[in-house]
Amino acid sequence: MDSIHLCQPDNQKSCGACCGLYNWDDHSRDILEALLHKRTDLFQSLEIDSESFNLYKTEMSGLSLQSKLFETIYNCEFLGFVDEKRKRVGCLLHPLVNNGKDLRDNSFYGKELCASHECPSYTYLTQEEKKAVIYGTDEWYTYGLVITDIDFVKEYFKIINNTIGETIKPEIIKRPELKSVLSDYFRLKQDWEFKSKSRRFGKYYFSYSEYHIAKLAYQKELGVKGSPFDKILVSLASEFHSTDELRKAEGIIQASIDRFVERYRTFSP
Ligand code: SF4
Ligand code: SF4
Repeated sequence: MDSIHLCQPDNQKSCGACCGLYNWDDHSRDILEALLHKRTDLFQSLEIDSESFNLYKTEMSGLSLQSKLFETIYNCEFLGFVDEKRKRVGCLLHPLVNNGKDLRDNSFYGKELCASHECPSYTYLTQEEKKAVIYGTDEWYTYGLVITDIDFVKEYFKIINNTIGETIKPEIIKRPELKSVLSDYFRLKQDWEFKSKSRRFGKYYFSYSEYHIAKLAYQKELGVKGSPFDKILVSLASEFHSTDELRKAEGIIQASIDRFVERYRTFSP
C-alpha cells in the first residue's frame, strides 16, 4: 500500500492544487500567499456555525477579484494555512485543525468528495519520484507546482535513471548535496525565463473555458526537429523565439541533470 501522503507529506510544506490553489490567471506566489493569509485570518476570527460560514464565503468571494484559469475547477474559499508558522496550505475545515470536528460539509464539494480525492500523481509517480519531490523542496508554492506536474518529474528522473543505470535510491537523494540540485530544478517552475506570457499552467493552456495540451512547434517556428527535453520544456510553459533561446533552455536542464548525476555517483556505493 502506498503510505506516502502527497497532500501533507511533512510539517514543512503541503499541496492544495486540487482545491483551486493555482487556478487563477495570476497565480504568482505573492498573490496566492496574500490570499491564503486573508482567508486564514478571517477563518480564525469566526465562531464555528453555519451563519458565520456563509458570511465568510460572501466576504471571500469579494476578495477573489481576478479571473480563473479553468472555470470548471472550483476555487475553494476554505483553503488556507493550517499550521501556526503558516508553512502548510490545507483545508481550514479539516478535523485535524478543528479539534476533531469535520466541517467540510460546509464547502462546495462536501466532506465525502474532499476526503476521498486523490490526484493522478498518487497513481502515476513512483515511490522514488514521490520521495524525490518531497526531499527536494520545503516550500509549499514550489511543492504544489511540482508534485502535480507528472511529466516534469518523470522525464527528469527517466533521463537520470538511464544515465546512472539504475533507479535512484531515496536514501541517497535525501542528502543535502542532492537536495540542493533538486530544489534548483524544481524552482524552474516559478522562475523559468522562457515562460510563455499566455494563459498557461504547466503544459495546459486555456481558451474559452476549455483546456488544451500545449505543443512546441519546433519545425515551424524554429526550423529544428525537436528537443530531447520536450516534455520538460512544455511542462515549464516554454515559448521560444529563436534556436539560441531553445539551446540555452536545454543547456539549463542538461546542467541540472549532469550535476545530479555527478553528485549521486559520489554517494552511490
Ligand atoms: S493535487 Fe494531489 S497532492 Fe495536491 S492536494 Fe490535491 S490530491 Fe493532494
Ligand atoms: S473543503 Fe474540500 S475543496 Fe475546500 S479546502 Fe477543504 S478539502 Fe479543499
